[in-house]
Amino acid sequence: MTETAKTVIIEEHGGPEALKLVDREVGEPGEGEIRIRHAACGLNFIDCYQRSGLYPMELPHALGMEASGTIEAVGPGVTHLAVGDRAAYAAVPPGAYAEARVMPAAQVCKLPDAISFEEGAAMMLKGLTVQYLFHRTTPLKAGDTVLFHAAAGGVGLIACQWAKSEGIRLIGTAGSEEKCQLALEHGADACINYATEDWVARVRELTDGKGVDVVMDSVGKETFEGSLDCLKPLGMMISFGNASGAVEAFNLGLLAQKGSLKVTRPTLFAHIALHEACQDMAAMLFDKVASGAVKIRIDQRFPLAEVAAAHRALEARQTTGQTILTLD
Ligand code: NDP
Repeated sequence: MTETAKTVIIEEHGGPEALKLVDREVGEPGEGEIRIRHAACGLNFIDCYQRSGLYPMELPHALGMEASGTIEAVGPGVTHLAVGDRAAYAAVPPGAYAEARVMPAAQVCKLPDAISFEEGAAMMLKGLTVQYLFHRTTPLKAGDTVLFHAAAGGVGLIACQWAKSEGIRLIGTAGSEEKCQLALEHGADACINYATEDWVARVRELTDGKGVDVVMDSVGKETFEGSLDCLKPLGMMISFGNASGAVEAFNLGLLAQKGSLKVTRPTLFAHIALHEACQDMAAMLFDKVASGAVKIRIDQRFPLAEVAAAHRALEARQTTGQTILTLD
């Protein structure tokens, strides 16, 4: 008998209504692959970009980039995982919104016993992102100041705690007083309500007019220019997301005018493309969580069948911290 698993797919790009729960064949792992039975799946903003078509994909396609579960079968050539291992991953191709799947093994990591399946599902994509933002994108040292937008979100609350644990001063922004409070409770040194305050002026005040060393901006279109104005001369703008829409083309000369600024537009998937790099980054993330330096705060849980409601909540800015999809 062929085994099937409930899987969320899109047949065309669109709103949350485009998400369809179907039964899909799972199959056996081939060379370099594993089959994993998921315990929980993580929700990420990138899933919304893929669903809407901001990041186009070949259709039909399964969605979801992060999950945890138990290894059920291991294909030839896979040596770092065995049947029965607890595991978690952030990986391409999308397809994590599913009860089970076959997938490449390289980015799948053994999950330490100290970390629960729910934490594993919630933390891999966002936590590995914070790892590469703080350790692989630009040199950062204790005492440096970072401006981090959407600091109460999934990536944001991990970043607040990570910065604290490294002695980096993090100034957050968030869209309400409650969200700012949450960022402060998770280690942000200050948090600006960018819905009501002149956040560029506040950043200048908080840095005695100097500006910050680095901006980490995942809001995109609405904050890009203001973010450049928050930087010190020679500062680094890391534009890593588009929650408010994609950043528009701009005059490179602006970077010279504002003091020889640097801009980069990284993606996690380039950083974890190599197996060894991915496993090393995950080891550091697991240490941060297992040691208690970073706590994974799951504020929303939706059953897999209610994935559309989860997308609506994320896009309506109603979520804080991590969101997972649960499986029966
Ligand atoms: P979040 O939980 O942070 O949710 C997004 C948050 O962005 C919202 O809660 C909201 O917070 C803020 N936001 C600002 N403007 C808007 C808007 N117009 N519509 C919706 N939200 C808005 O999501 P994730 O933790 O999953 O991801 C955070 C960001 O990081 C995303 O942009 C994502 O694409 C990016 N990312 C990039 C990666 C990369 O490697 N390049 C990897 C992982 C994530 P508030 O109300 O406080 O403004």
